Amino acid sequence: MMLGLSLKGVSKSFGHITAVEPTDLSFPKGELTALLGPSGCGKTTLLRMIAGLEAPTRGTILLGGEDITTHPAHKRKFGMVFQSFALFPHYSVRENVAYSLVIGGMGKAAACKKANALLETVQLGGFGDRRIGELSGGQRQRVAIARALAQEPEVFLLDEPMSALDAKLREEMQVELRLLQQRLGITTIVVTHDQREAMTMADQIVVMSNGRIEQIAPPQEIYHQPANTFVADFIGKANFFDGIVVEGGVTVGDTHLTTQANFQSGSPVQIAIRPERAAMDDEGGANRVAAKVMFVRDLGPLREYHLQSDIGPMIVEYAVGETGPTLSTGDATTVRLPPEAIQVFPRAAPK
Ligand code: ATP
Repeated sequence: MMLGLSLKGVSKSFGHITAVEPTDLSFPKGELTALLGPSGCGKTTLLRMIAGLEAPTRGTILLGGEDITTHPAHKRKFGMVFQSFALFPHYSVRENVAYSLVIGGMGKAAACKKANALLETVQLGGFGDRRIGELSGGQRQRVAIARALAQEPEVFLLDEPMSALDAKLREEMQVELRLLQQRLGITTIVVTHDQREAMTMADQIVVMSNGRIEQIAPPQEIYHQPANTFVADFIGKANFFDGIVVEGGVTVGDTHLTTQANFQSGSPVQIAIRPERAAMDDEGGANRVAAKVMFVRDLGPLREYHLQSDIGPMIVEYAVGETGPTLSTGDATTVRLPPEAIQVFPRAAPK
C-alpha cells in the first residue's frame, strides 16, 4: 500500500478540556475516511489538527512518512471545504476558484483556464460568470469543492460539507462527491455526524465519542459487527436488553436466549438485535418470545412494529415486498430472535 496520512499519539486539550484523547489513526492513500460522531466528540478538532489550523498538544502527524506536525496550514497542500463554504460573495464563481491560484503566483489567464476546467469537473461549466449570491446551496458547495481542488491537494478535508443543504440535495451530493473522489483518487477525510452520509461515502469510518475512537472499520463492518454498545446504538437502530450469561446463552429476566457469545457464565451483559434481524414468522427454533403490537409505523418502504415483548419493548422491521406479517395494534404475536443475530456486549454490573 502507498503511504497515506497517519496520526501517532495525537491529542488536544483546551485548558482542562480534553477534546481529543491520544489517537493513532491511518488514512490510506486514495481512500475516503469519515470521522463520525455526535456533537462535541472531537471530530472537528481532529480535522483542524490535520489541516494545520490547530496545533496538537501531543503527538505526530505524518504524510507519506514525513513529519508535518509543525508545518503551517498553507504549507500542507491540503484542500479544505468548510461547513459555511467560506466563499467570497462579491466575486464571480470563476474568480472564487481562480483566487488562490493567482495568489500562489499563477498568471491570470492560466488561472482562469484552470478554474474553468475545475468548474467542468464539478458540473458548473456554464456558471463561471455568476456571482455567488446567484447560486443555490448545492451549486455553492460545488464551487467550494472546485476551489479546494484548485491547489491539487494531496489530502482533501471536508468539515460537515452537506449541512447547509436540504435532505434530498444532501443525498445527491454525497453520491456525486464520492464519485468525484474516486475518479480523482484523492485521499479524503470527511467530518460528519450523519451516519447515512458516512455509510454512503466512506471506505472506512472512524466512530468517535468523548474525544475517543470507538471503532475504525469499513461501513458494513461498523453496522454488522459494532465494537460496543455506543457504536451499535449510534449506527442504525438496535433493540437493547440487559441480561446475564448462562450456559449456551443469556437470560433476560426469566427468558433464556440462545446466543453465540463467548462470555463467562454469570457475567452481566447487554444484548443488541437489529430491528430487521428479528422476525415474526412460523419458523421453529430457538428464541421465540411472546409479544403484543403497541404501534405500527408505516414508512412506505419500511414497516416498523413497536412491540411490548416478554423481555421488554422491541421494534421489528420489515421491508415492503418481504413476506412479513400483517398485524395491527393490539394483536398478539411471537418474535423470533435468531441466535446469530444477537450481539452480546459486556455490561458493568449494577452497584
Ligand atoms: P460538532 O459536531 O458540534 O462540531 P465536534 O465533534 O466537531 O462537534 P469539536 O468541535 O472537535 O467537536 O469539540 C470537541 C470538544 O472540545 C468540545 O467539548 C468543545 O467544546 C471543545 N472545544 C473545541 N474547540 C475549543 C476551543 N477552541 N476552546 C475550548 N474548547 C474547545
